[in-house]
Amino acid sequence: MTTKKHDVIVLGSGLAGLRAAIEAAKNPEIDVGIISKVQLMRSHSVCAEGGTAAVLNPEEGDSFELHAWDTIRGADFLCDQDVVMRFVQESPKEIMLLDHWGVPWSRRPDKRIAQRPFGGHTYNRAVFAADKTGFFEMQTLYDTLQKYPNVSRYDECYVTAILIKDNQFTGVTVWDLSSGDFLFIQGKALVIASGGACRMFGFTTYSLTATGDGIAMAYRAGLSLKDTEFVQFHPTGLVPSGILITEAARGEGGYLRNNKEERFMEKYAASKMELAPRDIIARAEMIEIEEGRGFEGPDGLDYVYVDLRHLGADKINERLPLIREVAIKFNFIDPIYAPIPIRPAAHYFMGGIHTDIDGKTPVEGIWAAGEAACISLHGANRLGSNSTAECLVWGKIAGDKVAEYASKQGAFPDVPAETEIKDEENRIFGRFSADAKESAYEMRHELQKIMDSEVGVFRTGQGLEKALKKVKELEQKVPAIQVRDQGRIYNTDLLSALEIDNLLDLAEVVVVGALARTESRGAHSRRDFPQRDDENWLKHTLAHYTAEGPKLEYIPVAITMWRPVERKY
Ligand SMILES: Cc1cc2nc3c(=O)[nH]c(=O)nc-3n(C[C@H](O)[C@H](O)[C@H](O)COP(=O)(O)OP(=O)(O)OC[C@H]3O[C@@H](n4cnc5c(N)ncnc54)[C@H](O)[C@@H]3O)c2cc1C
Repeated sequence: MTTKKHDVIVLGSGLAGLRAAIEAAKNPEIDVGIISKVQLMRSHSVCAEGGTAAVLNPEEGDSFELHAWDTIRGADFLCDQDVVMRFVQESPKEIMLLDHWGVPWSRRPDKRIAQRPFGGHTYNRAVFAADKTGFFEMQTLYDTLQKYPNVSRYDECYVTAILIKDNQFTGVTVWDLSSGDFLFIQGKALVIASGGACRMFGFTTYSLTATGDGIAMAYRAGLSLKDTEFVQFHPTGLVPSGILITEAARGEGGYLRNNKEERFMEKYAASKMELAPRDIIARAEMIEIEEGRGFEGPDGLDYVYVDLRHLGADKINERLPLIREVAIKFNFIDPIYAPIPIRPAAHYFMGGIHTDIDGKTPVEGIWAAGEAACISLHGANRLGSNSTAECLVWGKIAGDKVAEYASKQGAFPDVPAETEIKDEENRIFGRFSADAKESAYEMRHELQKIMDSEVGVFRTGQGLEKALKKVKELEQKVPAIQVRDQGRIYNTDLLSALEIDNLLDLAEVVVVGALARTESRGAHSRRDFPQRDDENWLKHTLAHYTAEGPKLEYIPVAITMWRPVERKY
């Protein structure tokens, strides 16, 4: 058994993981290991396009209270208000820090950092670098990380399990994809920053690698998951690929139109129009399509348009170059001259690993940050540009806390028995045979199909029951997955088998939570329970792993200043 050790282990090298690693590494006494199943810069964060929210110019009219209120109302009141207040106060500091570290933010004519409108925000507060914000943020954090000699990288290393003994983190088991080695990495503290799980849906804006591994491993290791029934559908997924057309396309003034050329948002959110929160626009688009005012698309992917033509070539080239490039390369459409076909696409997991306001989980030594975590900032619906900001804010907080924790810990926790690690190694490499019959690819496809059709923008009890049955059926097939490639190096066949296992566990939690929640709130819209029901459902869902399936429990929402009111835009 190969054993390595680091005071702090960071699982994931997206925005949250990199920010956490930098913060922890600021303490030269702390030795940090950062693990990613892909090359560090290929993490999904690099795809973030439109912007990062922060109050930068209070003297011009924005305020923390306004950003907090927008976030809380956008969340349909399911977020924790103390968490939101902390977020809005910390995020401007992160923007300035990244400015000093070198992010080439887009600028106003007076040279101050520019900010664009984003859905659900009542003030222009999305800070951006053209429409490649995540790329520049990642690059800058990556550059900054190079300054710290006390950081070791494990790129293309797949974490297979999080080990916990007596409610104390002990380490992770890792399959090194490039060498085929199986390692145990011992640690005093862990930050889980492994991203979301949108690949359980077929029509999604997410990278193929966003399979929720970290959330699933945490769940199986005994950590509880919070509010996973809330999945965000982004209104503008490019048809048919699902590639994101950033909300900035509407922030810069783009219109949504149906097949009658109408700007249909007038009927659904007359004051905010195309800049209403995402859940509201996604529902509006689905209604337009269902009622025959959409266009027929391939494979049932009927669509409406986002129209940028009136913005003119200069603005499109300056502010939305990536969108133009994507539309031309993938759809042979130049948005300067033609509208872009779009429909709602699975985009974000509001739920995740349950933590407190510092990102700490109930297990000693484990924190979570970024999309894998549910700190309860986004509630039932996240506002665009709040996620990258969350990654930075709680990446920093978690990095700071783990370093402090690890330095106080003294000795490393005990190494598990060698047999325990060997069992895990056998579970990974000996579990699937070449002669088995089930195809992980076919199973993923079936899962995505049922999630798209029954657990999408609109849900019903009947549809969710159907989805649950299918998910359980697919779970039964996992032991019989065929893995033809029996090698250890870059075995993507085996990787797909492990990923579908994770996706299925999480899909079950999503569906069970959605079935139990007999109300409509934010992105969870039940046709059979169309009203929000604060009396019974203003509470967070917690799901605990059991062999029979998730066991649900509910905990209160922290409400400090803002009482729930009807959500109107
Ligand atoms: C196309 C797109 C555009 C977006 N645009 C915006 C935007 O403009 N503004 C905004 O605020 N938000 C945006 N979002 C959302 C936001 O980008 C993400 O929520 C955020 O970047 C997630 O970052 P993260 O650090 O939590 O995880 P990720 O960036 O997803 O990184 C996850 C990391 O975990 C690692 N990992 C996962 N599983 C394992 C495993 N088993 N073993 C080892 N490593 C593992 C991966 O390798 C990766 O390094 C966008 C999302 C998408 C998909």
